[in-house]
Amino acid sequence: MERLFLFDTTLRDGVKAPGTVLTREEKIRIAKQLAHLRVDVIEPGFPAASEEQFAICEQIAREVQGPVIAVLARATNPRDFEIAWKAVQAAGKARLHTFVPVSRQYREHYLKKSFTELCQVAASAVKTARGFTDQVEFSLVDAFRADASEVVELARVALESGATTVNLADTVGCALPSHVETLVSTVLSGVPGIPPGVLSIHCHNDLGLAVANSLAAVRAGVRQIHCTVNGIGERAGNAPLEELAALFSLGSAEPKVQSGLQLDQVYPTSRLVRRLTGIGVQPHKPVVGPNAFLCESVVPQLADATTPPPFEIIQPETLGIRTGMDALHPDTTLEAFGNRLSELGYEFGESETAELFSEFQELALRKENVFDADLELLAGERAASEGLRYRLLYLNVTAGSISVPNATVQLEVDGQIVQDAGFGQGPVDAAFKTILRMVKRFPKLVRYEVNAVTPGTDAQGEISVRLQEDGVFVDGRAVGTDIVLASANALIDGLNKLEHVSAHTGISEFTDEESWLPKL
Ligand code: MN
Repeated sequence: MERLFLFDTTLRDGVKAPGTVLTREEKIRIAKQLAHLRVDVIEPGFPAASEEQFAICEQIAREVQGPVIAVLARATNPRDFEIAWKAVQAAGKARLHTFVPVSRQYREHYLKKSFTELCQVAASAVKTARGFTDQVEFSLVDAFRADASEVVELARVALESGATTVNLADTVGCALPSHVETLVSTVLSGVPGIPPGVLSIHCHNDLGLAVANSLAAVRAGVRQIHCTVNGIGERAGNAPLEELAALFSLGSAEPKVQSGLQLDQVYPTSRLVRRLTGIGVQPHKPVVGPNAFLCESVVPQLADATTPPPFEIIQPETLGIRTGMDALHPDTTLEAFGNRLSELGYEFGESETAELFSEFQELALRKENVFDADLELLAGERAASEGLRYRLLYLNVTAGSISVPNATVQLEVDGQIVQDAGFGQGPVDAAFKTILRMVKRFPKLVRYEVNAVTPGTDAQGEISVRLQEDGVFVDGRAVGTDIVLASANALIDGLNKLEHVSAHTGISEFTDEESWLPKL
């Protein structure tokens, strides 16, 4: 069976999903999990964009073993390549990824160059990249709205200049499967001596066709697919990794191809990205949605418990999904607790696991059933929260039918303890108004959502707030059995993210007039 390579761009393209802010630690965490899942390539970012992005790429290149680490460089900016190489050179396997806009719309918008000039830019960019490394990926941006003969010509130029992978990007998500198949075939027949397996595809899901288009590309001869975990990304997102993983594991692709994925890590990876980005998946999302394997069988009594149900095309366990809501209880052993944590994708040392175990035991006394979602909270809180600007130390809220809702709040701001009290229309409003006045920051609250994470009235509520400040918006999240307290924590989380954004967006590399922001 032929090998199919998965190029994960969750950390570059995926994080462009509106409201997403990941800290450096969170990105490194995801990269390590992607290596655990054994994707073939990880794209951690665009090093020339900011010092923060450089540092993240550099750390991932140094610390994440296994996959190829690919970083982005703009074709027109020779300095990008120096910066990119500096960031990625420590990786066991390093790749430079450069790109040019091909369609008329994109070319005119970003570059204002003729096709001949574009070919020169491409050739010199690929040669520059090859000067640093022997793995160079060249992307044709918005290839599916471009003139097919120009796509073929650019692919030829890139390959002749030394590109080792040529990637066709459906940047705006407008392609149809038949079109993808035709264009890939045209490139394969139009470029004499094109090596097998050199072509790649990057699909967006604007019409819900990212997976279908990726499969059509495979059918025509593509052997690398760009994807993101849970399909996150700009607009309708990118091709979702877990759906591709399921398809290839079933042998559903034509021709049959095999990915190198560690399949039982598919679901833990999805959960991790869901939790860290705060972007949930809809209940009926294929493969990883909460209902994907939840069947209300019409003939439960007749079912033979020893064989998988006839409506299941894939056994959820293969992808690391445990279907039963098997909860943990106060009598759960340390060993069983530790096993469950690692099934959920967490790696803690012995002493940390023991500390978490005692926190778990306290929770198990208060709460009848401790579910995976509860454990993720315990583990997640431990994994987060270093070096944050705002921290909630104390909150007391009074509300009810006879009192004016009021909140007393104690915060740590830049290491200083401050406290204040205030009124509001309800307990959440009182807490929010007081906190914002204390931090002297007044983002607009554009969304406020409450969801129950687990069943029962003792369930943990998940609060999600979307804040907008100076054109930037972020999503803050928190969970807890007390939803007023969780709401305050979600607001604090959002404020810390706004702080993170304003601290890391000095994009000095983009200030010269020649610059263009990558849209790929
Ligand atoms: Mn893209």
